[in-house]
Amino acid sequence: MRSIAIKAPAKINLHLKVFRPCRPDGFHEVRTILQAIALADVVEVTLAREAGLGLTCTDPAVPTDDSNLAIRAAVQFVQAVGYPAIGIGIHIRKGIPMAAGLGGGSADAAATLVGLRTLLAPEMADGQLESIGADLGSDVPFFIRGGTQVGLGRGDMLAPARQPLSERPVVIVKPAGGCSTREVYSRYDRGIGGGDDAPALDDALEALSAGRLEDAVGNDLRPAAIAIVAEVGDAIAALRDCGLSPVEMSGSGSACFGFANSEEQAVAAARALSERFPFARACMTWASGCEVLRE
Ligand code: ATP
Repeated sequence: MRSIAIKAPAKINLHLKVFRPCRPDGFHEVRTILQAIALADVVEVTLAREAGLGLTCTDPAVPTDDSNLAIRAAVQFVQAVGYPAIGIGIHIRKGIPMAAGLGGGSADAAATLVGLRTLLAPEMADGQLESIGADLGSDVPFFIRGGTQVGLGRGDMLAPARQPLSERPVVIVKPAGGCSTREVYSRYDRGIGGGDDAPALDDALEALSAGRLEDAVGNDLRPAAIAIVAEVGDAIAALRDCGLSPVEMSGSGSACFGFANSEEQAVAAARALSERFPFARACMTWASGCEVLRE
């Protein structure tokens, strides 16, 4: 039985501009800057002799049936490489909070693809792995690349940022309420937010290149998310009160992030925020994507 463990990092959207109305295919056109962070799940993939697919997870709230994106990733991979009678076991050690806009499910899917490629098809290029991933979710290709990427289309057409963000300490806070991505976009479509909440992508990229992170950060979906989970506004205010800057919501929420000037400041802020919020963690930004931990 061959086994592999993959680190599946979370992401934050430094910048997210969303165009309405949604496209005829039901997706919204977005302009985004995605940043990987060291907060992560660990996905263990084991090959078994008997055919079949099974998944276990340390978090009982995560579905273990074929709605789990890691299972769907394994099915797609096996179809792409043509190993119909293989046995695959997946175990997810969950570190990324769910329904947070941190892309946890997509990260697990990407980690599963990276693990299966290492075990079964090491010659497969990143491009092919990314196209298998794109069918599973808009963020999956990002987690194969990681670092700092610009996302166009529905967020899956990637290009590396001209100037990746240098390693920075960041604090992630998630309020008790989670945000359903579908519900946030639906409120947004009904006209909540989106004016100047995020700058134009070109301005954001120029600011990022010049090291003015505060002028790059913004999220059009924040007002719609706050209309659903009011504590998102509290989380943003609390991160600011800790002296963190810039501060913003990630993706469709409800997690928010704030940048610190030092690891000490990040750790102290996370400790203070954990008294008010169920999840508050200090971590560093992460310069790559899913990574093999051990074979
Ligand atoms: P996104 O920002 O990509 O829309 P998210 O980060 O807000 O997603 P996830 O943690 O990916 O949220 O979970 C969203 C839903 O996906 C969950 O409610 C869960 O039912 C489902 N899901 C499927 N696979 C997974 C997985 N491996 N881990 C967590 N949730 C998963």
